[in-house]
Amino acid sequence: MCSAKNKSVSKGFIPPPIPDNEALRLKDLESLKILDTDAEERFDRITALIADVFDAPIVLLSLVDRDRQWFKSIHGLNVPETSREVSFCGHAIFEPETMVVEDAHDDPRFCLNPLVTGEPNIRFYAGAVIRGPSGLPVGTCCLIDRKPRKLTDRDRKRLVIFAKLLESELLQSVKLTRLQQETVMSAYFDPLTGLPNQRLFLDRLEQRLKIAGSLDSVTICVVNICRFSNVINAWGKDNANKALVVIGKRIKAAIKNKGTVARLSGDRFAVFTNRSKSARYERTPSHLRDPIPFELNDLFNQPVDVGGVELHLEANVGVTSYPHDGEDAASLLENAARCSKSVGACAHVQYYSQTLSDEASKAFAIEQRLRSAIANQSLHLHYQPIIDLKSGRLQSLEALLRWRDETLGNVSPADFIPVAEATGVIAEIGRWVVEEVCSQLVAWKRQYPGQLVPVTINLSTIQLMRSETAQEIESIVARAGVDSALIQLEVTESCFLKDFDSALCSMKKMLELGFKFLIDDFGTGFSSLSYLNKLPLHKLKLDRSFVSGIDHSDKCKALAKHIIALSQELGLIVVAEGVEDAAQARILTSMHCDQAQGYLYSRPLPPAEISQRFFED
Ligand code: C2E
Ligand code: CA
Ligand code: CA
Repeated sequence: MCSAKNKSVSKGFIPPPIPDNEALRLKDLESLKILDTDAEERFDRITALIADVFDAPIVLLSLVDRDRQWFKSIHGLNVPETSREVSFCGHAIFEPETMVVEDAHDDPRFCLNPLVTGEPNIRFYAGAVIRGPSGLPVGTCCLIDRKPRKLTDRDRKRLVIFAKLLESELLQSVKLTRLQQETVMSAYFDPLTGLPNQRLFLDRLEQRLKIAGSLDSVTICVVNICRFSNVINAWGKDNANKALVVIGKRIKAAIKNKGTVARLSGDRFAVFTNRSKSARYERTPSHLRDPIPFELNDLFNQPVDVGGVELHLEANVGVTSYPHDGEDAASLLENAARCSKSVGACAHVQYYSQTLSDEASKAFAIEQRLRSAIANQSLHLHYQPIIDLKSGRLQSLEALLRWRDETLGNVSPADFIPVAEATGVIAEIGRWVVEEVCSQLVAWKRQYPGQLVPVTINLSTIQLMRSETAQEIESIVARAGVDSALIQLEVTESCFLKDFDSALCSMKKMLELGFKFLIDDFGTGFSSLSYLNKLPLHKLKLDRSFVSGIDHSDKCKALAKHIIALSQELGLIVVAEGVEDAAQARILTSMHCDQAQGYLYSRPLPPAEISQRFFED
């Protein structure tokens, strides 16, 4: 029988011991996020059913917390919790499955327990363990009676099943909460970089504008990585994504608490500044003094290391400022995004202005239409003759793209090539040009045998740097059965500025396949004569800016003369571009320039007119 003299019963009863893994157990319980929540019918229905099945006056879903047992569901009792010290469940959680106390008066652990000696006067207790997400015991489902009872084996098994039912209901709510959290995360955060997405950015910017007031200005920047589609094409989506993560981290580290960073979509990030500084008494608008756009731009000076591959990325930063450039978050962001799409140029900080916005709109329209230009058959090639200055005979033809769009009308290649490069469409357009030139050469060969001249094709930096380009051109030319000596490739100095070695390597690959190279627009860029020596070139095209000044500027004349002489010494054939009048042609001839191209001889013409004017039937 029960005796208070029992040595271990210092308080008159034995409090439950604390498990060794208590910290982890509490963490498991905590992760359920259920403590102190309201009663829920889904649990109460089960405890009521258990009470009915076992004919028990009290049934509890009890969770054993640090210092208490808290009841998520209570049937037949009016107490929300008790101290852990007096709890039966505190003992039960040490059992693998169940703990049964048939008569508390006979059990030295409980006979003097206040819950036994006083309300609710427990005599019988049967608790089945409930486990948390990591499998640690967090509580029990227990039956309590005010009179002693026995529990058959069958009932014990049934109680365990009920406990499992409650347990799965509890775990279900963890899954549900997690799901809810994930839903919130994906609605407001970019899954790749973990940065806020456009929606959250706009929301926060709207809040920021509300507190900005009239003396405060907010700078909004959109960072747009240039030609990112080429990175995807060249290095694959996984590496491209890794690069985006690195860039996101760089931006975040650079901005710290100076602003809010977000990833808008694809290759675009956005930042707005937190700094609030009075702009009223300063002469320069504060957004123009803000260093952040330039700091963002500088982040691209360092290559991005992606699994051992160094990617040299560039970005444009479009900038708007509140209240100058827009009243609400959406228009400020949209205008900054437009600025960041500035055509052609890269690695620029571009401030918003209406003119620029018009230009950007134009680029946007071009981008949209260009994608379908090939399918719509709205691209054509014109050919411009290159003439031998001594004999006046046709030497070669330059293929020049023409685009007549249904809505935009005629768009100059000077306008759409940069957009094609920026969007990656250039690869497809480039292939189309080679195919078109090949089929034209085949047609001319059939009609005018013996009169064929080489055709030069313009290759942009992007095309030259794409590793697939050489193979693509080679297979198109081979498929058409065209001699590769009839195709020559024009590249500009800018192709070699960024990464000389890769450009040279790519060039050599094509050279081995039998294609000759010309350097185009020479004199407009870096104009390094030492380049000429290093590059395996066939011809040099002297830019028309030299030619146009040749008859009135001594400087132009002197430069042109030396470039021609030096190039010829290096074994290059020199072509003067943009020759528009006879005086220019005369001077060039006197300088021993080899060939010329320009309106004096012919504008770029459709192939039929070339045949008519330059080939003999
Ligand atoms: P570019 O390679 O320097 O081509 C020569 C440009 O000068 C052509 O402009 C041509 O129409 C123009 N031109 C020719 N003779 C004269 C002249 O006597 N006076 C003047 N003022 N201009 C003359 P276009 O056709 O507008 O092409 C512009 C640029 O677009 C080209 O410059 C080239 O860089 C690019 N482009 C054209 N077609 C292609 C192409 O198929 N692929 C690539 N990647 N770029 C192309
Ligand atoms: Ca050219
Ligand atoms: Ca040129």
